[in-house]
Amino acid sequence: ADASFARIQDQRKSLPIFNERDALLRIINDNQVTIIVGETGSGKTTQITQYLLETGHGQFGIIGCTQPRRVAAVSVARRVADERRCELGSEVGYAIRFEDQTSKDTKIKYMTEGVLLRETLTDSLLNKYSVIMMDEAHERSVNTDVLFGLMRRILPKRRDLKFIVTSATMNADRFSQFFGNAPIYTIPGRTFPVDIFHTKQNVPDYVAAASLEAVRIHYNAGEENGDILVFLPGQEDIICCCDDIRKKLEQQPQEKKRDMLILPIYSLLPSEQQARIFDPAPLRKCIVATNIAETSLTVDGIKYVVDAGFCKLKVYNPRIGMDTLQVTPISKANALQRSGRAGRTGPGQCFRLYTEHTFECDLLENTVPEVQRTNLGHIVLLLKSLGISDILSFDFMDPPPSDNIINSLHQLWMMQALDNDGNLTKLGRKMVEFPLDPPLSKMICFSEELGCGSEIVTIVSMLSVPTVFYRPKDKEEEADTAREKFFTDKSDHLTLLTVYEEWMKHRCSRDWCNKNYIHFKAMERVKDIRSQLVEICQQAKVRLKSCHEDYPLIRKCICASYFVQAARMKGFNEYINIRTGVPCFVHPTSALNGLESMSDYLVYHELVLTSKEFMQCVTPVDGAWLAELGPMFFGIKESYDVRKKRRLEGKEDPTELP
Ligand code: ADP
Ligand code: MG
Repeated sequence: ADASFARIQDQRKSLPIFNERDALLRIINDNQVTIIVGETGSGKTTQITQYLLETGHGQFGIIGCTQPRRVAAVSVARRVADERRCELGSEVGYAIRFEDQTSKDTKIKYMTEGVLLRETLTDSLLNKYSVIMMDEAHERSVNTDVLFGLMRRILPKRRDLKFIVTSATMNADRFSQFFGNAPIYTIPGRTFPVDIFHTKQNVPDYVAAASLEAVRIHYNAGEENGDILVFLPGQEDIICCCDDIRKKLEQQPQEKKRDMLILPIYSLLPSEQQARIFDPAPLRKCIVATNIAETSLTVDGIKYVVDAGFCKLKVYNPRIGMDTLQVTPISKANALQRSGRAGRTGPGQCFRLYTEHTFECDLLENTVPEVQRTNLGHIVLLLKSLGISDILSFDFMDPPPSDNIINSLHQLWMMQALDNDGNLTKLGRKMVEFPLDPPLSKMICFSEELGCGSEIVTIVSMLSVPTVFYRPKDKEEEADTAREKFFTDKSDHLTLLTVYEEWMKHRCSRDWCNKNYIHFKAMERVKDIRSQLVEICQQAKVRLKSCHEDYPLIRKCICASYFVQAARMKGFNEYINIRTGVPCFVHPTSALNGLESMSDYLVYHELVLTSKEFMQCVTPVDGAWLAELGPMFFGIKESYDVRKKRRLEGKEDPTELP
């Protein structure tokens, strides 16, 4: 253990940031706001917090460091705890939604931006912090941008608070300008040349192309060292690609066989498995990652990068009136960061699975900031409860289109979270207590009235993890049959409820999960999330009663929160979105797929855009409920649109709602 500690300390000293330590600390001491730019891997995330702690900044408050991604917050906290030889959660801790690993001893706290944003609700001047470092600011998530706006209000009132913004990309001027021309400190980089190769044609199937490329690199490199990093957009692609690579390696003739360690990494991978990408290995490593490995996590020893050229982005789709996750081409800035990963420890190579023409002519310079492309419902709710009533004039670095804001205000008003003057209602105030999207928090609050809170909290917890159903390749049929056993009342929400209740009846057994193709870890998480939600309900004085399998009642409660996302039956499996008139389809995995519905209407949790618009997680509802629960929505829509238009033309106060 001592040897490994010594090695870690040597490594700390060899980071490019180490030589800058004193100069950095000076500039931070002399200024309230400092912008720090440095190559990925220079040591910004893991070292700056420690330097600050070592020079006494932890004495009068916590040194907080935000990350746009959960994986990064956890991984970096773990690393820094190792470097300081302390238990995670003591001197060094982390907090992500539904998971707080900090204690009263915590001096360095890594957290997601969402966590810090929620903390402003109870500690509006962030008094428990002496330093806030917003890391990876170039990612420009919605939360980054909102926190930026809030920090501009907080900083003049907290002269003692140090604020640091770090970014991996060079266009930090905007950050500096936004914070009163704050100084920019650039950590001198140390990078090696990377040869970049493009394909002659754009590839039809990037998963197949990526696995082929990885295997080709592996054999070409032969005995030489050097790990491979493959960038793909999402979890499914990554799992597929890893399988593919494994198969291709197995197919090699015996005498040529050469092993390689294949390591996937994406946000929902269990954290013990995520950590494996950092373990030293006797073999070549092939890491298959989402854009988490672009700048948030640095793995040493990468010599080859394979870049599929896509990432998954949340995009507001005006045609259907809401956010969808879409596979989108990356920007040039992303592409450059990705290729840079090959040149950290020596010269490298990057293979782009797209043409040079695509790079030059089709890719945007930078990704559009998230605030300009997503639904702002939860942000609007949060800002309102911080007392910021006029959202349209909030200090956004790049203001979202006013249409987006108005749309979000409208949806919150329909949910009765805002009153006619655009102020938070009693319900809205309760909803803010929950770290959930507005429809889900509304569902919990409304369940009290109907007396099905216990069931609804379970459903919401199940919806807060990606999916508990496990569908291994080659065993799809068995897995599907297993899932079908849980189908309840032709509703996917109720199916989730049944899975959880069955698991409870089987005393949360791991065996039971394995037998039923259900992720045990995911279920444990659901259970944990559920108990946290129950606690929040107690604080928010939402009483939870059980309705004991009164399924129609539960469906009604779901309807009350999702009536904005309702569809009317048009034909077999085919529906029309009530709000937008767009045709949409029941997802093949749904309990309702291929069945006669018991009613003409359904509500859905999510829309997934692939070949068609698929509704994922649906529940049949009564037309009468829709009329009862969403009368404002159905009655006023037209006049609302007219008013909205007028308002956009500047003829009325924009925050005034009908
Ligand atoms: P930056 O934030 O400037 O990109 P980091 O502080 O994240 O740089 O990384 C500095 C060094 O610490 C890198 O060499 C990286 O490989 C190493 N490192 C970071 N996290 C871990 C970890 N969980 N395990 C092992 N090494 C890590
Ligand atoms: Mg970093």
